[in-house]
Amino acid sequence: MDTVLLSDSIIELEKAAEFIRDGEIVGIPTETVYGLGADASNEDAVRKVFEAKGRPADNPLIVHLADFSQAKDFTTSIPDIAYKLADRFCPGPLTMVLPKNDRIPMITSGGLDTVGIRVPSHPVMHRIIELSGRPIAAPSANTSGYPSPTSAEHVMRDMKGKIAAVVDGGCSEFGVESTVIAIEGENSVRILRPGCITAEMLKEVCSEVIIDHAILHELEAGQKAASPGMKYKHYSPKADIIMVEGELDNFISYVGSHYGDNVYSLIFDDDKEKFPYRYMTYGKNSSEQAHLIFQRLRELDDAGAHRVYVRAPETRGVGLAVYNRLIRAAGFEVIRI
Ligand code: AMP
Ligand code: MG
Repeated sequence: MDTVLLSDSIIELEKAAEFIRDGEIVGIPTETVYGLGADASNEDAVRKVFEAKGRPADNPLIVHLADFSQAKDFTTSIPDIAYKLADRFCPGPLTMVLPKNDRIPMITSGGLDTVGIRVPSHPVMHRIIELSGRPIAAPSANTSGYPSPTSAEHVMRDMKGKIAAVVDGGCSEFGVESTVIAIEGENSVRILRPGCITAEMLKEVCSEVIIDHAILHELEAGQKAASPGMKYKHYSPKADIIMVEGELDNFISYVGSHYGDNVYSLIFDDDKEKFPYRYMTYGKNSSEQAHLIFQRLRELDDAGAHRVYVRAPETRGVGLAVYNRLIRAAGFEVIRI
């Protein structure tokens, strides 16, 4: 299949919407990462998404709507707290897991009777949803397991020949996927996947915000995942990723004693003056780290890195999302020095 690269002009967005209506799949920019968009109500289209990504069938897709008021068309009930959260955070990088109705086929929800609903703020994604008139299922547009794409070029690299089109809307603003939450009670939510809507921000609306154990810890054998994506190795480049927690001086001596050909470090911007070994930097605060992390993981592969020591980010605020992606990329290998 020929994969066409579309611009974000209105005529080309009409084309993208037509592909979606015709049951084809399209790479679409969003404010989080690029998504692989398909009509969420069309089983054949959704099947193509799972095939193109090589995604396990039990890993559900998030359904994107133009406005939260449409959520009632695809769910059986919406608690008050969900409306309060939507008032504050929609459109934006927040996904709420709600009980689905039968307009969302089981293939889309990975066999679950719930569906993740998100209202994206990116004008291109928003416009394509409106023009297509369909709910759009859109997982990250990477090959399953590989780092998520934050540019049209990343999507082309993973998906060329497998999908109808990619819309180029520049680099993704946030750089990590949406925050996924489940509603636990009248005023309580559980974070299933951390993102740029942080626990601290959710706390401004909910009295209780639970951070699921699996965000920072490996699931034990036989333990059930609240969010199926937590079961899988994720976000990993070809290089071996090793997270190292500790002060810069200790990090430098640790890398020094494990150094060799094709060994890289991923460090903070402020570290580079002092750092004597091969490195890339990934920003100076958590928001910059989120913006850069997936791009850097791809660049490390391009540079031929075999092993990468990463200075661990903090776990507060947006840092929790960066830490969560890195600990999965590292297969939970963390060294504390
Ligand atoms: P991605 O499509 O790559 O952004 O990944 C979406 C992730 O959201 C999945 O891996 C799940 O972990 C989570 N998710 C989506 N829908 C649900 C749901 N109905 N229940 C729990 N988690 C969900
Ligand atoms: Mg993904």
